Amino acid sequence: MHCPFCEEEDSRVVDSRIVEGGAAVRRRRECPRCQRRFTTYERYEQQPLRVIKKSGERELFNRQKILQGMLKACEKRPVTMEVLESLAGEIEKELRDEGYEEIPTSHIGEKVMEKLKEVDQVAYVRFASVYREFREIDQFLELLSTLNREKNTSERREVDEGKD
Ligand SMILES: [Zn+2]
Repeated sequence: MHCPFCEEEDSRVVDSRIVEGGAAVRRRRECPRCQRRFTTYERYEQQPLRVIKKSGERELFNRQKILQGMLKACEKRPVTMEVLESLAGEIEKELRDEGYEEIPTSHIGEKVMEKLKEVDQVAYVRFASVYREFREIDQFLELLSTLNREKNTSERREVDEGKD
């Protein structure tokens, strides 16, 4: 690959790392002529995956979209970008292994939830609340606390009745 700055044909690899959960190799290269550095990624050549949206529309699968959804759910949480990239890579790999050419978005959402649940409970609840269409996290939390209140009240009643 030519140097993007001076078109030199040769380049030297200065760092090589396996990324995206083993799905890609990232290489930092240095041009021997202008000394500038650039990055290349090596990936398998893959058939495009298509996603079926709720509206029935089809679009090309985009791992970046999964990553963005997870990033949003992990805002201010102690989850590194590297972990999220590797989860996104795992999800894509699983989808490809399942062998369907078209995948409903709901199936992808379930997978994201599964992965987040293993990594961070708060991120999981956030993602689930958006994905399952609770309009606000508050609404979701309110639901949870209502459920808890109801449970506590009925437990207390049982204790009181026991005394009598
Ligand atoms: Zn160069």
